[in-house]
Amino acid sequence: MPTVVTIDGPAGTGKSTVARLVADQLGFQFLNTGAMYRAVAWQCLQHNIELTNRNLVAEVASQLQFSIQDHQLLVNGKDLLKDSRMEKIGQAASIIASLPDVRAHLVAHQRSLASQQDIVTEGRDQGTVVFPHATCKIFLTARPEIRAQRRYEDLKHQADISYEQILAEQSERDRRDTTRSVAPLKPAEDAITVDSSDLEIDEVIARIVSIVQQSLR
Ligand code: C5P
Repeated sequence: MPTVVTIDGPAGTGKSTVARLVADQLGFQFLNTGAMYRAVAWQCLQHNIELTNRNLVAEVASQLQFSIQDHQLLVNGKDLLKDSRMEKIGQAASIIASLPDVRAHLVAHQRSLASQQDIVTEGRDQGTVVFPHATCKIFLTARPEIRAQRRYEDLKHQADISYEQILAEQSERDRRDTTRSVAPLKPAEDAITVDSSDLEIDEVIARIVSIVQQSLR
């Protein structure tokens, strides 16, 4: 059975960068499940599909093909992440992510991808719902102001956006993700919480790799 390491947590913790680097160090594949929800949202916006139209959005989710190549999630053979990284798509993703049928399709894809290889998978529900028997579960978090500040530093040169706006959008997405009735964001009971507020990225990676190595012994 392939090994599964889950890393869940709120928006803006740097989960995908951390999960990718942890996967590199362990020699595992990396799965960015947020990119799957973003792909569905992106596709709906492209085709003017109402985000709350549960049947049509679920149909979009059922028709996408997902694969992983060199740590990149490919959607119908293409890397969509560059097009879908904007916060507008993040917000749209968190709207369609509350639809149970959409989640059911994406969860099936996630389990299928993880059945083929050792994997580090990141998202909101990986340790709680998708892989309840994962070998190791991490909940990666940071104080909201720190997460918003990091994101502001990343974006300020590319977009006309303020720290206050980022903090407000992040709070809205956290609220939606933690209060939805299906697979809300929360730590699994057996997850180890890593708070990256006062840590450099290298320290976060080293801490998680060491936790995983201990659980593999
Ligand atoms: O992690 P990322 O910001 O790319 O995720 C976008 C949105 O997709 C999240 O705000 C969340 O609503 C949804 N998501 C989810 N479950 C996951 C991964 C992402 O509901 N496993």
